[in-house]
Amino acid sequence: MMNISDQSQVEIFKNYVNNSQNIVIVPHNNPDGDALGASLGLLNTLKNMGKSVTVISPNEFPDFLNWMHGVNDVLIFDKQLLKANQLIEGSDLIVFLDFNALSRIKLMQPLFEKDTTPRVMIDHHPFPEEDTAQVQISVPEASSTCELLYHVLSLSGFKQSITKEAAECIYAGIMTDTGALNYNSSRPQTYHIVAELLEMGIDKENIHQNLFHNNSFDRMRLLGHALGVKMQRLPEQKAAYIDLSKEELHQFNFKPGDTEGFVNQALWIEGVQMSAFFTEKNNLVKISFRSRNGFPANAFSEKYFGGGGHFNAAGGESKLSLTETVERFKVVLKEFCDENGF
Ligand code: 5GP
Ligand code: MN
Repeated sequence: MMNISDQSQVEIFKNYVNNSQNIVIVPHNNPDGDALGASLGLLNTLKNMGKSVTVISPNEFPDFLNWMHGVNDVLIFDKQLLKANQLIEGSDLIVFLDFNALSRIKLMQPLFEKDTTPRVMIDHHPFPEEDTAQVQISVPEASSTCELLYHVLSLSGFKQSITKEAAECIYAGIMTDTGALNYNSSRPQTYHIVAELLEMGIDKENIHQNLFHNNSFDRMRLLGHALGVKMQRLPEQKAAYIDLSKEELHQFNFKPGDTEGFVNQALWIEGVQMSAFFTEKNNLVKISFRSRNGFPANAFSEKYFGGGGHFNAAGGESKLSLTETVERFKVVLKEFCDENGF
C-alpha cells in the first residue's frame, strides 16, 4: 500500500468533502496531463456525489487534453479573473492538485496568501512547502498525483462515486506522468490501480490515441527540427540539450503542449545522464530537465534556475536571454558535475 504517512489527513479530507457543497479545484500553472487529469477526475467524482465543483486553472492547458470530460467548463484564471475570484470567495473547500508550493500557481498565488477557506493539497512532488494547506497529502513515491488521488478516494470511501469519465481522466494522468508506464512505475500498486480503472470501463485505446497518437503535422516537424538541427551534446557532462527560440516556435505554428516530451528524446541517447530543453517565452526562458543514473535534476534546477520538481524530472526558469541562458547552463552544469563527481 502506498505510504500516506499520516492517515488522519485522509480522514480530515473525507470530512471536509462530506461537509462541503461548493468546491474549487486548482492545478498548477501550465497544467500537464497529471494536473488536469487529477483535477477533472476529482471534479467528475465530486459532481457525481452531488457537489458543485469548478476547476480553476492558473492558465491555458494544452490541446491534447481537450477530450477530457468536463474540460469545457474549466475556468482559466488569467482570462476570467472576476468569475474565478467570485467562485473562490463562495467556496467552502479548495483542493490543490499536483503541486507542492503556492509559487507553482503563479498569478493565483496572491489570492491564496489571503484566502481563509479550508484547503487540501494532494501531491507527489518531494519537499512540500509547509502551511500550503490545512491538509497536505504528500506521497513522493506515487507515480502521479492521479494515482495518489485514486488511492485517497478509495481510502475515503468515495470509490463507488468514481465515474467512467473520472476514471478516464485519472488513467490519463498516470499515463502522461509515467510516459505510458516508462518511468516511476515499478511499484505494483500502480498496476493494481490501472487494472481497477480498466474494470470501470475506460476506453484505453482511445485515451492513448488522444494523448500520444494525435500529433499535429506542425508538431512533428518541430520535433524533427529540434532533433535534427538543434540538439547538442556535452560529452564531458554526459548531457544533451535543445533550445528553441520564439522565431523557431513561430515558424512551426507552436501551440501549448507541442514540445511536450522533447526533453525525453535528448535523454534517450546512449551515455546521456541528463538533458535540458529551453523554450523562449515572452519574458523568460522556460527550462525542463530530465535525468537518470543518480543525477538530481530537481537539486540542479533549484540551485541554478529557481525551480524544482522530481529527482529525475524537474523544471525551472531564467530571465536571461535564450543564448545567455544556454551559455550559463553549460557553465553551471560543468561546475555541478565537477563538484558532485558526475
Ligand atoms: P516539465 O519539464 O514537464 O515542465 O516539468 C517536470 C517537473 O518539474 C514537473 O513535476 C513540474 O511540476 C516540475 N517543474 C516544472 N517547472 C517548474 C518550476 O518552474 N518550478 C518548480 N518548482 N517545479 C517545476
Ligand atoms: Mn504530476
